[in-house]
Amino acid sequence: MSNDLNFSRRSLVKRIALLAGTASIPGLIASVPAHAKAKVSQANAKYQSTPNGDKKCSNCLQFVPGKSANENGTCKIVEGTISPNGYCVLWVAKQ
Ligand code: SF4
Repeated sequence: MSNDLNFSRRSLVKRIALLAGTASIPGLIASVPAHAKAKVSQANAKYQSTPNGDKKCSNCLQFVPGKSANENGTCKIVEGTISPNGYCVLWVAKQ
């Protein structure tokens, strides 16, 4: 009984080591379709509906504008409705 249990553990460890050697995490992440990637919650991104100095969603690379410049839009990486005057810690300057 003990030998069977040891054999199973050994076998499991070998399989995990084999998987780790053949599949890289970045490679796995890159292979996930864009529509399947989850966005970050507003709470985790520390989103706020007001700017942080000159930094605001409307001048962030990730912002997807609404129908007009003053309307709410969305974000490529943060969930929910996003104000053009909002801000979060994931802000990146638009080029
Ligand atoms: S990443 Fe943050 S700052 Fe940039 S658009 Fe999304 S919510 Fe706004």
